Amino acid sequence: MPGPTASRLILDELRGEVRLTRAELIERTGLSRSSVSGAVGELLSAGLVAEHTIQPAPDGRRPGRPVAGLSLTRAAGLVAAVEFGRDHMSVAVADMALRVLTERTVSIDAAGGKDVAGGRDGTDGRDAAGGRDAVLRAAEAQILSALTEVPEPQALLAVGMGLPAPILAADGSVVSGPVLHGWAGSRPAAELGDRLGLPVAIDNDANLGALAEARLGAGRGARDMLYLTISSGVGAGLVLDGRVHRGRHGVAGEIGHVPVAGAAGTGRACRCGGLRCLETLASTTAILEALEPSFGPLTVARLVTLASSESIVRRVLTDAGRAIGTVVGDLANTLDPAVIVLGGPLTEAARPLLTGLRESLDRRTQPGVGDAVRLVPAALGERAGVLGALIIAAETAAVLESGGEGNA
Ligand SMILES: [Zn+2]
Repeated sequence: MPGPTASRLILDELRGEVRLTRAELIERTGLSRSSVSGAVGELLSAGLVAEHTIQPAPDGRRPGRPVAGLSLTRAAGLVAAVEFGRDHMSVAVADMALRVLTERTVSIDAAGGKDVAGGRDGTDGRDAAGGRDAVLRAAEAQILSALTEVPEPQALLAVGMGLPAPILAADGSVVSGPVLHGWAGSRPAAELGDRLGLPVAIDNDANLGALAEARLGAGRGARDMLYLTISSGVGAGLVLDGRVHRGRHGVAGEIGHVPVAGAAGTGRACRCGGLRCLETLASTTAILEALEPSFGPLTVARLVTLASSESIVRRVLTDAGRAIGTVVGDLANTLDPAVIVLGGPLTEAARPLLTGLRESLDRRTQPGVGDAVRLVPAALGERAGVLGALIIAAETAAVLESGGEGNA
């Protein structure tokens, strides 16, 4: 049985990548230099692939002289993304090299379907299903409407969906829904796929954020990356060899309940029953509580503002960073990442957190691991989720092979 052609292998590698060099294509496909060169030539003349010059990066991440990067063109087809938050839905359409052609955010009530389901509160299964149905109908309408805004549109090949809830990788079902009431046990990607007649990939917002920061944001160029989110919980997204590592149950990187060695603890038990969980020391809840005696009740937004003027706020954030570094140091020793990206609502106040993290890493990691790893704040902000959903859509899509006319 003949294997896939060289062109097909190259198209598959380019899906969801901003661009790759010929050397990277040779490494990833295992094809010879001449096979890659010949197939790239055919794809360039078919108009499916375009060539750009990549300048050396000033920070030394891509040293040396300019090289030629290759990316898919719009003729290879389009992908769309829909990302649900508590009260909004973001929709984007992009080409397979992740150039966003149009995007929009509209408000919804994904949690209960209250507004879209006609004023009901969605407390029983039927109301919840009706609410979800209405939300997915709205998503379908937004995607189709966004497509009409794309000049010279090509075929839409796949959609990526992001949800603020754990997703079971095996069948795409929503595991539990503290945020999305009534969505637990449902398979929203399959439901939207049936509506659109297209493959729809799905993942949770943390994994999508990690993937987007690795491919397009602060971790760009790194194949191995840790993405930390510090919010009411503390979590890590693991990107290993360019892919999100989810683990068998989808809970890889759940570091919030790892006990912090040597920590005094707050004297109060974590919601899991543990006494020195990272979450009790470094979540936004813990940080806000530590600052309450000085400032009274605070919001995360106020905390971020105060971090620029109040040294006590920076000190508490640095302590939280040290606690995180205690756990992340062990993880870094094991996984040897090139970069650690700090995401979540404290990104704007990242500096003191990263200072504490760096101190702990320097103390706890093997020589050559901690000092070599780059620590950076996330770069994509609230767009990380929708961009991650575009990446999984592109990875799901089969590239059009005949310049947008035929099928794969
Ligand atoms: Zn715990």
